[in-house]
Amino acid sequence: MSLLEISSYAAGDWVKPGAGARNIASAVTGATIASAGNDDLDVQAMLDHARKVGGPALRKLTFHDRARMLKALATELGKHKDALYDLSFHTGATQSDHMIDIDGGIGTMFVFASKGRREMPDGHVYLDGDVEQLSRTGSFLGQHICTPLQGVAVHINAFNFPVWGMLEKLAPTLLAGVPAIVKPATATCYVTELAVKIMLDSGILPEGALQLVSGGIGDMLDRLDCQDVVSFTGSANTALKLRNTPAIVENSVRFVAEQDSLNASILGPDAAPGTPEFDLFIKEVSREMTAKAGQKCTAVRRIIAPEAQVQAVIEALSARLAKVVIGDPRLETTRMGALVSGSQKRDVLEKAALIGTEAKRVFGDPENFAVEGADAEQGAFVPPMLFHCEDPDTAVHVHDTEAFGPVSTVMGYRDLDHAIALANRGQGSLVASVITHDPAVARAVALGSGAFHGRLYFNNRDSMKESTGHGSPLPHMVHGGPGRAGGGEELGGVRGVKHYMQRTAIQGSPDILSAIGDKWVPGGTEIAAPAHPFTRKYSELSIGETLHTAPRTVTINDIEHFAHFTGDTFYAHMDDAAAKRNPFFPGRVAHGYLLLSFAAGLFVQPDEGPVLANTGLDGLRFMKPVSAGDSIKVRLTVKKKTPRNEEYGEVRWHVTLTNQDDELVAEYELLTMNAF
Ligand code: NDP
Repeated sequence: MSLLEISSYAAGDWVKPGAGARNIASAVTGATIASAGNDDLDVQAMLDHARKVGGPALRKLTFHDRARMLKALATELGKHKDALYDLSFHTGATQSDHMIDIDGGIGTMFVFASKGRREMPDGHVYLDGDVEQLSRTGSFLGQHICTPLQGVAVHINAFNFPVWGMLEKLAPTLLAGVPAIVKPATATCYVTELAVKIMLDSGILPEGALQLVSGGIGDMLDRLDCQDVVSFTGSANTALKLRNTPAIVENSVRFVAEQDSLNASILGPDAAPGTPEFDLFIKEVSREMTAKAGQKCTAVRRIIAPEAQVQAVIEALSARLAKVVIGDPRLETTRMGALVSGSQKRDVLEKAALIGTEAKRVFGDPENFAVEGADAEQGAFVPPMLFHCEDPDTAVHVHDTEAFGPVSTVMGYRDLDHAIALANRGQGSLVASVITHDPAVARAVALGSGAFHGRLYFNNRDSMKESTGHGSPLPHMVHGGPGRAGGGEELGGVRGVKHYMQRTAIQGSPDILSAIGDKWVPGGTEIAAPAHPFTRKYSELSIGETLHTAPRTVTINDIEHFAHFTGDTFYAHMDDAAAKRNPFFPGRVAHGYLLLSFAAGLFVQPDEGPVLANTGLDGLRFMKPVSAGDSIKVRLTVKKKTPRNEEYGEVRWHVTLTNQDDELVAEYELLTMNAF
């Protein structure tokens, strides 16, 4: 294989390696396969290009436009998966590791594409939370909004996931409307470069939305300001150094960090050998030790088991680890490939030796293990190594040294409080798992340990068939953790998008809030409908368009009829004396559901037309009881419109029911699908 020249993509041009380029070796053979880096990279031009070209182009698009863009990018990457797999074998990753990195990255992008369409508006402003009433009559209100930052997101990624690591940050960034400059770790940047090329060549992205630094980043971080974000994954030392860059501190540049994490897995006190939970625990822990050769930010480093079960855990884990075939990741029989590089191997062995000062190695000998189909000396291979720490209370290194390879330590606990205390000794981690069938154990750990972990993963016989694995950060769920884990948060659905937006409190009149949020706010101006709104197509309806119905009087016969017809003969509707004893009712009252039905009868236009379906109600509240003889009338207002496809969109109607004294009786949001 000829030497690969790994380029950067800067301000619209590909820049080949130049002065200061670093050589990159194959993890499997140790041979140099690529070079990357160029000291002459014009980082200021890259920042300008992102801020002046990429940002404005992305901000013109709506959230839905950007979500569609993500879907198209993910589809395009999916078409080129084989080329990515092929290159990625050089990183030491096996095909099942590729499923995590490459397929997992593409899947993450698809989830953000779908969340963007379902949970964000087809507009430019994201409304965060409900309207707050700040005045007595409602003429002055508050609302939080999120709009995209107007700078650039600089993503600095770790070597272990060259594709997922990029895409899990890129998807929320682009969805927010912010351009990105991606800087992968040099050791595996050749895989990231190919993924970036695939995305750029597709022509799906506006110019300036995505740039790439292969190699060193120069003094880019010294040039950041308050509209920029740094999202970092890597070691705690590098994170500490970078987050103290003067420009980052002085300009309050957001710095999201995901760094070293001494993740724990706890075997519940109920999960003795012979239970499904014990077997599950052994399976999950051994998988977490060996997937990506243990180079996973979420890998289990500390195995916390009841003292009585420690020996059984060591034996069962050792038996399972003994079956792991280590070798050339291209071989189908290989279960664990190589570490990323010779220097990473040295680092892991040094850290394992440090752990070895407090714990006894009970499985795996780095001086003596078999490697299939590759030269154990040239490639960065190590065996899985299991340690047993007999005194985890006085030990230090087992709780604070992350050997970023297939290295874990078993430690015993006396009771659940002790297990929780040991888990918390990691001083902040990305994930802790608890394998238990006892909900009380789960609750005790959640209360005692939740504050120390970004994610708690519970698994047992009921969930094991469909569970997603201790080590899988899911795009729907928050990934990150306090303390040693970096104090950052990624993913978590729309939460992850908000890291790239500014939340602003908006205060003003209902019309001001309606205009900014593109959503009608109660108290805002009503637009008289030129025809019944049910006869108007989705595209013809305006926000604020309102129908006022005629009143309808509710009779005692209506209440009786509804009660017997539906079978709802609850005393408050049928027994005047009993209803009077209830503090909420003046006597017999109409059913809430009767009022809803009458409301529909008042506002519906019955002919076949653009309203296709009623898909539900949100936020229903009954405020005042309605007695026989009272009358109700309805106000129906177009509150918000969200296109769903080329044929129809969702209309959210604000519905209020008032009585003969104009008092509010009920309020809700009605959802319909309307043809374009
Ligand atoms: P590093 O912290 O060395 O590097 C992470 C990223 O930071 C890389 O892209 C690296 O680029 C970049 N970087 C390093 N120095 C600078 C700098 N001065 N300015 C700008 N960017 C910089 O982590 P590694 O990826 O090498 O992994 C090392 C260790 O980090 C692992 O052994 C492991 O302990 C830990 N780690 C933890 C993870 C977690 O999430 N828990 C994930 C990955 C790693 P370059 O490669 O070009 O130096």
